[in-house]
Amino acid sequence: MFKYDVAIIGGGLAGLTAANFLAREGKKIVVLEKSNRLGGRAMTNDKNGVLMNLGPHGLYLSSDAMTILTELGLSIPGGNASKSVHIHGILDHSVQVIPTDFSSIMSSTLLTWKAKFVFGKLMLKVMKLNIDSIPEISLTEWADTEITDPMVRHIFYSICRLTTYTNAPTLQFAKPVLKQVQRSLKGGVLYVDGGWGTIVAKLRQQAIAGGVEIFTNKNVTNIEHHGEYQSILCSDGTVIGVADCIVASPPKEAVKMIKGAEQTSLHRWNEQAIPITASCIDVGLKKLPCPQRQFAIGLDQPFLFTNQSRAAKLSNDGTIVVSLAKYHHPMEELNVHADKRQLETVMDLLHPGWRKEVVVQQFLPKLTVSYDFPHMKRKENPGPSIPEMSGIYIAGDWAGHEEVLADAAVASGKRAAQEILKTSEMILVKEG
Ligand SMILES: Cc1cc2nc3c(=O)[nH]c(=O)nc-3n(C[C@H](O)[C@H](O)[C@H](O)COP(=O)(O)OP(=O)(O)OC[C@H]3O[C@@H](n4cnc5c(N)ncnc54)[C@H](O)[C@@H]3O)c2cc1C
Repeated sequence: MFKYDVAIIGGGLAGLTAANFLAREGKKIVVLEKSNRLGGRAMTNDKNGVLMNLGPHGLYLSSDAMTILTELGLSIPGGNASKSVHIHGILDHSVQVIPTDFSSIMSSTLLTWKAKFVFGKLMLKVMKLNIDSIPEISLTEWADTEITDPMVRHIFYSICRLTTYTNAPTLQFAKPVLKQVQRSLKGGVLYVDGGWGTIVAKLRQQAIAGGVEIFTNKNVTNIEHHGEYQSILCSDGTVIGVADCIVASPPKEAVKMIKGAEQTSLHRWNEQAIPITASCIDVGLKKLPCPQRQFAIGLDQPFLFTNQSRAAKLSNDGTIVVSLAKYHHPMEELNVHADKRQLETVMDLLHPGWRKEVVVQQFLPKLTVSYDFPHMKRKENPGPSIPEMSGIYIAGDWAGHEEVLADAAVASGKRAAQEILKTSEMILVKEG
């Protein structure tokens, strides 16, 4: 009856993953993206040949996202950023090496010998943890029982911030955080050649090869639920009828566009969502003033610095692309000007003279890193279906179950696609 079986609203990682899973099962799919290009927050900006992600972006080699992209037959080019790099810690306006391998254990003065032993033991414990045995407690509760040394606790929280991009230990469930830390210790992190835009391009290419039709500049304003089918309305007047649709936009937008959403579970999921934001500067440099400082995390302040070029190809002329991010606490007020000053001060501390080396830069004052995460105030996991509206599904990094960030986006995209396939199979069995 309709040209398409499923409409997907939003062409970020979640929407494109769902499109691929459905297309390979022979479904006719249309993706509607309001921006003039695909990718959402996984886009990469090309600034005169220097490729910049939106802030520091790393893909864990043993993550849900990596597993699902591999399942789709995609291989993501890049380098393991965790290999042979010293992690520096920023503490009290000075830079010190965090003891993570033999040479740094010997040289670091950040911890006493006893604390180095305690830290090593803690990391081994996390690596071997049976994640499923962790009770539903907050990260702070877990750390309070497991770690007594204050400096070891500082380092532990910094690693947790780094792996989840989230600066809210009293709100975060311990389990998904420890799972991320375990992954970082076991598998390492991939920095993607060409930036995360490469992942988007590969998903797009494969979707198109599978017959998916993709439209950019299509702002969906309304979704009307008519029981058996859904009408999708765009701001340019386009109307599309489909049996099923996946809304892979942020939760606030989803509530706004779906008529009658206030009376559904979606309304609750949106109300319970706590977005995580960060401010970032990405800088293209002729050279790195202190080449030994490739990677640093704030111990008493929530910062992450990384040279993404150390593992990924991000320019043709040798320009080095570094990123510095400040993780915001979800409950604290934002001060854009203070953030910018702080970011520049941290750059001055890590790489004195960096300004002279700048080729290109972008300042991103407030980016939503994730529209939600698994936290203590969550009443239930969102999606994949909206129980009160059959035929409407959701996906996005806010629809993670135990996953976080891109893992949540990709895993929820797959979940929504699978739910549609399962439901249509059930209908076929019933009819046949
Ligand atoms: C600074 C920063 C650093 C990050 N670092 C990492 C990292 O290191 N590791 C990691 O795993 N994750 C990281 N992330 C998170 C990761 O980028 C996101 O979780 C992921 O890209 C989200 O994908 P998504 O599809 O859920 O949402 P989005 O990328 O936001 O996609 C949603 C899409 O829907 C479109 N849309 C919205 N409304 C409409 C509408 N009305 N009609 C049509 N289209 C619409 C939007 O334009 C957008 O393209 C980072 C994010 C940021 C911002």
